[in-house]
Amino acid sequence: MEFTDRVLKCIDCGAEFVFTAGEQLFFHDKQFKNDPKHCKQCKAKRASGASRVRPETRTTCSQCGAETTVPFKPTQGRPVLCRTCFQQRKPEQAPAPAAEPIPEPSPEPESMPEQN
Ligand SMILES: [Zn+2]
Ligand SMILES: [Zn+2]
Repeated sequence: MEFTDRVLKCIDCGAEFVFTAGEQLFFHDKQFKNDPKHCKQCKAKRASGASRVRPETRTTCSQCGAETTVPFKPTQGRPVLCRTCFQQRKPEQAPAPAAEPIPEPSPEPESMPEQN
C-alpha cells in the first residue's frame, strides 16, 4: 500500500495542512480510521489545554513571608496565608462552641402568660 501526501483542512481554524505519507503510514500502522482533523498549531493548542493543571498562584505568606502556592487567584490587598499560618490561625477565627454560655431552660416552659 502506497501513501501520498494529502492536503487536509483544519476543522478548528480552517487552515490547510499536509497529512504526509509518513503520517498516513503511521495512522495505517496504528489502525486509526479517521484522518487528522486539526493542523499542527491547533493540535498543540489542544494538547496544552488538556494537560493544564489546576490554577496555582505563587505568592508569599502575608504573616511569615514564606513562599507558598494557593489554588486560587489572591485578591489584591487581601492577606494570603501559607498552609502553616492558616492552620495556626484557624482556632482564633472559629471559637470553640463550648465557650458559648449554655442557655438555662426556663423553669416553667408550659406556663401561659398571665392576663391582667
Ligand atoms: Zn488549525
Ligand atoms: Zn506563613
